[in-house]
Amino acid sequence: MTVDVTRPDVVTDVPKQLFIGGAWTDATGGRTFAVDDPATGDVLCEIADAAPADGRRALKAAVAVQEEWAATAPRARSEILRRAYEIILARTDELALLMTLEMGKPLKEARGEVAYAAEFFRWFSEEAVRIDGGFSTTPDGANRILVMRRPVGPCLLITPWNFPLAMGTRKIGPAVAAGCTMVLKPAPQTPLSTLALAGILTEAGLPPGVLNVVTTTDAGAVVEPLLRGGEVRKLSFTGSTQVGRILLAQCADTVVRTSMELGGNAPFIVFDDADLDVAVDGAMTAKMRNMGEACTAANRMFVHRTVADAFAARFAERMAALTVGPGTDPGSDVGPLIDAAGRGKVEELVEDALRRDAKVVTGGTAPDGPGYFYPPTVLTDVSRDAALMRTEIFGPVAAITTFEDEDEVVRAANDTEWGLVGYLFTRDVDRALRISERLEVGMVGLNTGLVSNPAAPFGGVKQSGLGREGGRVGIEEFLEYKYVAIPVRNRT
Ligand code: ADP
Repeated sequence: MTVDVTRPDVVTDVPKQLFIGGAWTDATGGRTFAVDDPATGDVLCEIADAAPADGRRALKAAVAVQEEWAATAPRARSEILRRAYEIILARTDELALLMTLEMGKPLKEARGEVAYAAEFFRWFSEEAVRIDGGFSTTPDGANRILVMRRPVGPCLLITPWNFPLAMGTRKIGPAVAAGCTMVLKPAPQTPLSTLALAGILTEAGLPPGVLNVVTTTDAGAVVEPLLRGGEVRKLSFTGSTQVGRILLAQCADTVVRTSMELGGNAPFIVFDDADLDVAVDGAMTAKMRNMGEACTAANRMFVHRTVADAFAARFAERMAALTVGPGTDPGSDVGPLIDAAGRGKVEELVEDALRRDAKVVTGGTAPDGPGYFYPPTVLTDVSRDAALMRTEIFGPVAAITTFEDEDEVVRAANDTEWGLVGYLFTRDVDRALRISERLEVGMVGLNTGLVSNPAAPFGGVKQSGLGREGGRVGIEEFLEYKYVAIPVRNRT
């Protein structure tokens, strides 16, 4: 089915209220806020703006059904996720358009995200029926140990704006599979995909109260009392390291378990023995997926001195050939950045690098006109002191610097408080494994610019976060261990 991008009924069709206890409800006082289209700056619609009391209502609804939900058959939970997976795929065009309108990414990328997002539900529908425990005998033979897995309890899920659908399914999927109830707070820039998702899960049979969605412009005021109230048992957060730190401090007071997917500052390393075609392809993905607005985006490109000119020339040629335009235009490869602040930050980072003698190979100047567009940009000779070497760029700007040897580049790559992902291009197997082990990151892309995969454990080390999402461990984050001690007495 094709969707008419000039008549975005998809926006009209999305519920605009809070979703609490299975019902759509207004925010306290009927307050609303505007959701904008970053390609034009125009308002798409108004949606409910929750106050702290609404957050408390949502958590109450989640707490009320936790015990009952935990007791449902794993197969029942699994099949809800499976049905939701199928509904999402059947609505790919509508969901992709909705995402493009609120977030800006080109329709083709939005369709890719819909498939990626749906896959988390399929993956966790398969995991729901594989939760198991253990049974063992103590070394002295006197006791039996029965290990069972229990859902952690009511969860608070907080998602960012850059992957509006997939960041939701990546958290909801394992929580549902594990038998947890939840309150989800999406980013205020991109709430519509989450609201559509709540509708889909309801159609798929998710009982009232298991998922509650609270949209708000006052995240701090709504979230803090929930974390401090003692009823939330788990926080799963994806967002900036700065906000992650604040939330970790709040969680400390009531000892709330956390999964934190925070910022990145990915090194992208090209050795002189790399296949340059593969490296350039990898750079296009690692830099340009989502217009560079990804925590996994290649942030610092280290290219061996002997291949740096060839790599930069080929990469810049591909970057310059991309079409910048509204995501709804089927010809667009690069949509707008999320908002004026996001683009302003990219502009400042480029200006700072230029002041430190970086050279522009392509791009480098924001166009006039509506929307928050920024062109694909390649900078060479970037000083290691430039701000963009220490800051998440979150835009389509590639910063290339050169290196001479392995030790030097590993030291430079690890010289950051972040450790989410690193990309490595080489045809030498020894080197590939050696550097993969030495990089202080949670994920390595070896001769590839893409690491995200629902079947893999996604996450970082150092200040990039705690815990993993996806893979076999994804559901673990939502499960507790409980063990029952059973003495077995000798017959008298
Ligand atoms: P970004 O800078 O990419 O928008 P943020 O970390 O600010 O990343 O936002 C990620 C998510 O965290 C969003 O849903 C946002 O509303 C939420 N958020 C921001 N500040 C707070 C806060 N003080 N408490 C709870 N959530 C917050």
